[in-house]
Amino acid sequence: MYVTLKEVLTEATALNMAIGAFNTHNLEMLPAIIRAAEKQKTPVIIQTSCGTANYVGHKNLVAVCKSMSEELGVDLVLHLDHAKDFAEIRKAIRAGYSSVMYDGSSLPFKENILGTKQVVNFAREYGVSVEAELGTVGGTEDGIVVSQEQVFYTNPEDAVIFVEETNIDALAVAIGTNHGQYMSKTAVNFEQLRKINEVVAIPLVIHGGTGVKEEDVRRVIDLGIRKFNVGTELLVSWNRKSKECYDTHKENTSNRDNVEPSLATIEQVVQRKMELFKNLSN
Ligand SMILES: [Zn+2]
Repeated sequence: MYVTLKEVLTEATALNMAIGAFNTHNLEMLPAIIRAAEKQKTPVIIQTSCGTANYVGHKNLVAVCKSMSEELGVDLVLHLDHAKDFAEIRKAIRAGYSSVMYDGSSLPFKENILGTKQVVNFAREYGVSVEAELGTVGGTEDGIVVSQEQVFYTNPEDAVIFVEETNIDALAVAIGTNHGQYMSKTAVNFEQLRKINEVVAIPLVIHGGTGVKEEDVRRVIDLGIRKFNVGTELLVSWNRKSKECYDTHKENTSNRDNVEPSLATIEQVVQRKMELFKNLSN
């Protein structure tokens, strides 16, 4: 079933688990991520940057997500990741995305609230869910490095006001994770997450999930993380495997001989993450 973020995160909260949100970078990666969800019998969030959406075509992404989720019986959300531009959000919602993230985290607090409210009002008309962010996730965003002086943890008191004022469905929190981090691992600020989770009732989202240690995953889920973003790890594994294939195969070989092993790698990574995100005590 093609569903909204709110629906899958409500289920995740009831089960004390997280739902993996995987960034696809092209149309080719998409079936592998959805098949992993079918095998793991878990819902999945497919997310795209505005860049990927414009590259592949919003309606093409919606069509594949809808047809595969129906065919395989997987609960699937198609989510627009880190949109700062309202026009991009309107485009995705009108094309049929079931969820969007408005990222006003670099704006002053009040402007972030105003921008987020505007997106929520528009999204509600279409029954679409909204994620928003407070604080700053470190690392790179669209290739631009966020300097360490610009990184702020999410303030719990601000988070309460933000959620009340905006009526969002999920809150992305800044607790020490970094976008694009894969060579090293993050020191998650569990204390900050605990404080936020104590006062905020809606599902929380972790960005830069590739950098989170496997042994920390259960701990952040127990502290309210319900959407777990993974992008870089898929990209790195796809690129490594593709490089190896293209380097070793003859140039007149079928392109599938290069792509299929890369897809198999993606599927493995996604399945491993999904296992970690489940609550095995259920
Ligand atoms: Zn992010």
